[in-house]
Amino acid sequence: MLVVMEERATEAQIEQVVKRLVEMGMDVHRSTGVTRTVLGAVGQGHPVKGLIEVLDGVHEVLRISSPYKLASRTFKQEPSVIAIDDVRIGGDEVIVAAGPCSAESEPQVRAAAAAVRRAGAKILRGGAFKPRSSPYSFQGLGEEGLRMLRDAANAENLKLVTEVMDLSQIEVIDKYAHIFQVGARNMQNFTLLRELGHARKPVLLKRGISATIEEWLLSAEYVLSGGNNDVILCERGIRTFETATRNTFDISAIPVVKKLSHLPVVADPSHGAGRRDMVAPMARAAVAAGADGLIIEVHCDPDHALSDGAQSMFPAQFDRLMAELRIIAPAIGRTICLEPVARRGWGS
Ligand code: PEP
Ligand code: MN
Repeated sequence: MLVVMEERATEAQIEQVVKRLVEMGMDVHRSTGVTRTVLGAVGQGHPVKGLIEVLDGVHEVLRISSPYKLASRTFKQEPSVIAIDDVRIGGDEVIVAAGPCSAESEPQVRAAAAAVRRAGAKILRGGAFKPRSSPYSFQGLGEEGLRMLRDAANAENLKLVTEVMDLSQIEVIDKYAHIFQVGARNMQNFTLLRELGHARKPVLLKRGISATIEEWLLSAEYVLSGGNNDVILCERGIRTFETATRNTFDISAIPVVKKLSHLPVVADPSHGAGRRDMVAPMARAAVAAGADGLIIEVHCDPDHALSDGAQSMFPAQFDRLMAELRIIAPAIGRTICLEPVARRGWGS
């Protein structure tokens, strides 16, 4: 339930409404906008709409038909901007995260980090705990991989996003990463999501392989309702009847989610397409469709990558894509890292 207060509602009136909702068994989340305050009531209680409507200072009470509340645009109209120091996701700038699927070795991670930073990425991606379909495939380097990733990110002045697969990994990943990635296979690992609700770092929540948009937003709600407001949604392709691409990259999800939710949305065209020759067109389309950022797999020797080599771009392809995005982003009123770092004279 959402309680929209009058523009001139007093603090005492707001507090009275909060008190009544709490008495009715609800948790109340307060959002103070430019002109009015909105109270989001969530929980197991059964607030009586009529009793709230008649309280002083209440403008309107809305039952929300969507089952997610804190993630919805109705609850918060302004887009959420998630800041990690000077990197702001959800603002005007399109933020690009890039790097290998998995950390494999120190030189591999270093080379990829340097290449993506030169091209204008702000965040290094890379997995140390890998969710592989087969238990016989490379499973990641664990903490050693995290260390390599963070060292490379620090060396290149990048932030780090890496996947957390399980509750038991939260503590160690928290030591190294700036952003927790929840992978597609874990989108409905509710125990993990609840625990990340108590984390003090942003969560990049990938859409599940067969998840509807509503289910995806409900998963975001698990994190938000735990008190962590910093959720970044990531469209990474869904499984359909089509077999020509690894997944079907659902570009329409980007404007749909932006309409339903205030949370930033980024796109992962690498897993969406599954083939490196199709990553650039999908990335261009995602930015044109309004994505707040991209997460892209880049490897300096993708033919020998230990995971997802076929969809990993060569650095030169990634450079070219970034140059194209520098034309597309301004055309839709967005900015993007203006020049490759090397040309600004900072790079090696
Ligand atoms: C990844 O980012 O490498 C990954 C495993 O992604 P997803 O969860 O989208 O499959
Ligand atoms: Mn991958």
